Amino acid sequence: MSQPVPFLDLARQHRLLRAELDAEFDGLLTRADFIKGAAVGRFEEAFAAYQQAAHCVAVANGTDALEIALRSLELPPGSEVIVPANSFIATSEAVTMAGLRPVFADVDDSYNLDPADVEARITANTSAIIAVHLYGQPADIDALQALAGRYGLRLIEDAAQAHGAEIGGRRVGALADIGTFSFFPGKNLGAIGDAGAILTNDADLALACRRLANHGRVGKFDHTSEGRNSRMDTLQAAVLSVKLPHLDDWLRIRRETARTYDQLFAGAGMAAPDDGQPEVAWWSAACAPGQIRGPRSVPGTLHAYHLYVVRVADRDGVRAALTESGVASGVHYPTILPRLGAYADHPQHSEAFACEPWSHEILSLPIGDHMDAACAQRVAEALVAAVGVPG
Ligand SMILES: *Cc1c(COP(=O)(O)O)cnc(C)c1O
Repeated sequence: MSQPVPFLDLARQHRLLRAELDAEFDGLLTRADFIKGAAVGRFEEAFAAYQQAAHCVAVANGTDALEIALRSLELPPGSEVIVPANSFIATSEAVTMAGLRPVFADVDDSYNLDPADVEARITANTSAIIAVHLYGQPADIDALQALAGRYGLRLIEDAAQAHGAEIGGRRVGALADIGTFSFFPGKNLGAIGDAGAILTNDADLALACRRLANHGRVGKFDHTSEGRNSRMDTLQAAVLSVKLPHLDDWLRIRRETARTYDQLFAGAGMAAPDDGQPEVAWWSAACAPGQIRGPRSVPGTLHAYHLYVVRVADRDGVRAALTESGVASGVHYPTILPRLGAYADHPQHSEAFACEPWSHEILSLPIGDHMDAACAQRVAEALVAAVGVPG
């Protein structure tokens, strides 16, 4: 019986960085600068530099980051914001919370917004598009930016899963009007609680976000508008500052694990799709038993592999077999957003989406800095065995 493989191991980073973290906690308790402490500004500068953005505003979590970013754009109240049909609910939830209406669009074989479907859904009431870099694979920002330009829309990046991901050598997050990140503990860069950030190259938008996140405050007891309370705790900023210098190393391990998976599935004759093939040929068809469809790393982009998602037939059966052999797994996400109970009254609740059939096939494999080559091999072998056994 080989060692079990957990989906992730959040405690591992803290064992590694314990002395530095303890020093931060000690300093924090002594100074007691719990809100707006110096660590917040330090982290904002470091994260902006890392993601190649001019401005970073640290906020309380990734959902607030999206809502505040949307509010900063001053879109017409009740206007439509196009979001992908498969994402975490925070993407569409933030649209509603900002007084706007989510419109769901289909995704393509990159698991990200299909620009052609986005264009088909633009109406006179559309004001913005949110591109999610789902699983860490950058969305087609160039195509979406072209659409936004043609129709006079704003483009927001939800980069909650894509710290360190790149398009053409440029890091995501500040490639469009404004971008948002989450530092939820399980993300590529995780805090020890909730935390988030907004990036932009527009100084006015950055200032607007900073005010919105701090009660509309411009000076002590001087509030030019109402905002809200969504500041990043000094504690979280301090922890994230300790972790950020290690992010590239942790991303390297994620990418190595992904490469190991790719190679082992290809070697087992259950290959990931060939980039030379017409996408639709494999993409639209259901998975056959014995097949493992790996994720596509889009040429010209650098995947951050927050998740490594394969498609298999009889996903729940395969998942049970993996669990049996000690390999953890996940499903991101089992239900497409418009089909959720939360959208029972949404006009698209019953609409057909091309991405829906494979919400029954997708399976997320363990990936993270707790993995090594032997570990990845164990997962791949367990998966090959699980899909190889009929029914
Ligand atoms: C995690 C996540 C969010 C929300 O972040 P929180 O910090 O949990 O509020 C938003 N969008 C996507 C795609 C996410 O994965």
